[in-house]
Amino acid sequence: MQSIAILGATGSIGQSTLDVVARHPDRYRVFALTAQTQIARLAALIRQHCPSVVVVPDERARQTLLEESGGRVDCEVFIGVDGLCRVAAAREVTTVMAAIVGAAGLAPTLEAVRAGKRVLLANKEALVMTGQLFMELARQSQSNILPIDSEHNAVFQSLPPGFDYGLHECGVSKIVLTASGGPFRTWALEQIANATPDQAIAHPNWSMGRKISVDSATMMNKGLEVIEARWLFGVGGEQIDVVVHPQSVIHSMVQYVDGSVVAQLGNPDMRTPIAHALAYPERIASGVAPLNFASLSGLTFEMPDARRFPCLGLAFDALRAGGHAPAVLNAANEVAVAGFLDHKIRFGDISSVVAETLTRCKVGSEASLDAVLAADESARHVAHECMESRRMMR
Ligand code: NAD
Ligand code: MG
Repeated sequence: MQSIAILGATGSIGQSTLDVVARHPDRYRVFALTAQTQIARLAALIRQHCPSVVVVPDERARQTLLEESGGRVDCEVFIGVDGLCRVAAAREVTTVMAAIVGAAGLAPTLEAVRAGKRVLLANKEALVMTGQLFMELARQSQSNILPIDSEHNAVFQSLPPGFDYGLHECGVSKIVLTASGGPFRTWALEQIANATPDQAIAHPNWSMGRKISVDSATMMNKGLEVIEARWLFGVGGEQIDVVVHPQSVIHSMVQYVDGSVVAQLGNPDMRTPIAHALAYPERIASGVAPLNFASLSGLTFEMPDARRFPCLGLAFDALRAGGHAPAVLNAANEVAVAGFLDHKIRFGDISSVVAETLTRCKVGSEASLDAVLAADESARHVAHECMESRRMMR
């Protein structure tokens, strides 16, 4: 029986995880659920899944939870980042689903890794920020990191068992990440520059949270995933290719030196990678419909367009620069995406803010958490300045 803490339970990945878990009460028990907002939804999840602990951001949210639960909450309630870190490392927990969005998920995700938990990693930003430290901690604590991101989960499924002894030894020549191309794949540059938040979050194939939906529209999501793959699979950027595949049926591929390409296919539904990671190395039902080959209109591929989607190139640049550059990239992107969703900057300004922040920030290389957090903080400051100057120019 696995005992699970779901960090970010009210989000898109959190909900899909609970859906899979509820199908297998004999295998999984929900120990903890956490939420930042949508406290009414959290109250409903408590009634449905009976966790031992929940985590909310502050005293006010605890009061709201009490009211939403009819005056009595049937579990312990922890507060804030401390509470998140406590459940991530709790003795009762075997498995942590890291599904908080953005840098906010870093501290509890690292706690889970440090505590040697089985970590189901959706929170790619944590790995992008602290790749070296993250993988080093996992090695020391023997934490099992299972990728939830559909591309990395597909790569994981397409690699031979024991690949962590070195991809070169396994005959791998390339990792090929597929990208849907997002909602603006066929749009002209001028049209993309002025796209609205509603247009940006309307992803053609996947239903996801707002931040990752915007990242998919800029293709920064693929950029973050390239960096994520670098750390998860221990490959250099030159061994990672990105190919646009608008149908989102092939979730990613591994190319071998003998010319073989191994791919993982399925309907675009995150319950597949979630079920895979939950049960690995076994297999369980996920509720996802089987792929119907007769109804596929075709599988097509094209190269990403660097001119219309500059964020992908910026991520490759940050990966090459190394040190804190990926953390700076991530911080600037979080600030710019929030600014865009708040109607403060145009869609086209997101990549400019990230590019300018990368140019202006001095990039250190110390891998400690404190050093990365300092780089994150100063990058946010610079990104806000860049954003302000873009607003003045309008
Ligand atoms: P979401 O916005 O739907 O949910 C985010 C969750 O995190 C919510 O439960 C929210 O309450 C919580 N949260 C937000 N800010 C927080 C904070 N400051 N402190 C604590 N908790 C906070 O996001 P999502 O789409 O579920 O994505 C979650 C993560 O998974 C992201 O890192 C995303 O990149 C990754 N991911 C998502 C998908 C997908 O299909 N949704 C696919 C691959 C990877
Ligand atoms: Mg993905």
